[in-house]
Amino acid sequence: MSPEWTIEDWLSRLARREVSARDTVGFYLDRIRRLDPQLRAFLEYDPGDALNQADAADRALAGGTTHQKKPLLGIPVAIKDNLAVRGHPLRCASRILGDFRSPYDATVIEKLRQAGAILLGRLNMDEFAMGSSTENSAFGPTRNPWDLQRTPGGSSGGSAAAVAARECPAALGSDTGGSIRQPAAFCGCVGLKPTYGRVSRYGLVAFASSLDQIGPLAGTVRDTARLLQIIAGHDPRDATSLPDAVPDYLSELDKGVRGLRLGLPREYFAEGLDPQIREAVMAAVRQLTNLGAEVLEVSLPHTPYALATYYVIATAEASTNLARFDGIRYGLRVDGQDPLELYERTRGAGFGSEVKRRIILGTFVLSSGYYDAYYLRAQKVRTLIRRDFLEAFQKVDALVTPATPTPAFRLGEKVSDPLQMYLSDIFTLSCNLAGICGLSLPCGLTREPQLPIGLQLLGPPLGEATLLRIAYAYEQSTPWHKVLPPVARGTSEAALAAASS
Ligand code: GLN
Repeated sequence: MSPEWTIEDWLSRLARREVSARDTVGFYLDRIRRLDPQLRAFLEYDPGDALNQADAADRALAGGTTHQKKPLLGIPVAIKDNLAVRGHPLRCASRILGDFRSPYDATVIEKLRQAGAILLGRLNMDEFAMGSSTENSAFGPTRNPWDLQRTPGGSSGGSAAAVAARECPAALGSDTGGSIRQPAAFCGCVGLKPTYGRVSRYGLVAFASSLDQIGPLAGTVRDTARLLQIIAGHDPRDATSLPDAVPDYLSELDKGVRGLRLGLPREYFAEGLDPQIREAVMAAVRQLTNLGAEVLEVSLPHTPYALATYYVIATAEASTNLARFDGIRYGLRVDGQDPLELYERTRGAGFGSEVKRRIILGTFVLSSGYYDAYYLRAQKVRTLIRRDFLEAFQKVDALVTPATPTPAFRLGEKVSDPLQMYLSDIFTLSCNLAGICGLSLPCGLTREPQLPIGLQLLGPPLGEATLLRIAYAYEQSTPWHKVLPPVARGTSEAALAAASS
């Protein structure tokens, strides 16, 4: 058994009965036990529960259940702390949920179970998915497996760190403005934000409902496609979920990029982009050209307004969504003389400072007298941003950009400057505003220190198959997906010590 094994590798060995699901789960539990005291990607994992699920998978395999029927039978998957798993704590890395436990499974969890996956545990994140570094978690930050002094990104930083260190072969995250793609880029794994509506949000704790999407993170493009295949599809319990049939993502992977047209949006290669990232992305573009893609420059002229637009809309929606955490209905309660005092005390004690900042900003932009100037205007600009993309997709099949302006920054480096923190999502936010799909995959390492660089592909609504196909062609012709972070390669104490020094 090896950390290099992909889901694909595990599946073929499970099918041939060379390993059992118990071996598989045991392998990852052992890695979590050894690596996670440093990384802190997991908020909760229950070895007994995971091994019980593994035994059930082994019984199914022995009884002749195939991977045709249950495509993830025996495969462990870890889950971001904002997705409901029945009977398990659901905290969104916040104190305000107290010891709340989910009364039901999210649709994506139901689908993973039906596919035979084993739920391995719950992953750290920025509180309520607000942040880009996991430093806003009420339970302390996760560390980047490439450099323990650096952030794994956020808000799905636990998901990305756990996958990059191979504490699990795949994870689910959520992406409202980049929270899957930015940490995937910082940690060197693949992360996909599906088109708005492609994956049901039922059972995802809402941050900004018109922007949130659940998506997979994995070590390879094929494994990412495999996960998307399971979680995508219409769900009557999410009114925004799309009725469109789910294509066979895996069978489309090998089609190559010959004949595809790729756009380089001028605005994404401007000032502020780290030169080593620019270099790596341009090398990736040359590689895609070598593989037969045609590349042209395009423009998304409203890009400079994306950040401001996002922070008006996301905070407005957050302020209303988070009104439900009132000390009456969920988790934490700090009593008061009257209901108002109870709300104030509970929310004052339960929310962290970034969440409070968002609620205050969001309440302000929605308040009478300011609504037209901020919220309504932001909605109009959002339409312009979406239009930019739809126009570009008249000319090209997908867009190629850097995923982040810089590689993973140091823990503590941006915590006191919210605007600096917000800027780390500058290349990922627009995708959510436009409702389109986006993927990040590794395309290189910076020199001294060696840190992963992410290549972002953006596609039209329901263009996931095209993104995965481009990503796969690139991945298969380059070595980056095979380079694991130092902590993941050697599992010895010495390797860990070397990485943390
Ligand atoms: N970092 C962005 C924010 O703080 C995006 C977060 C996300 O995608 N959940 O809002």
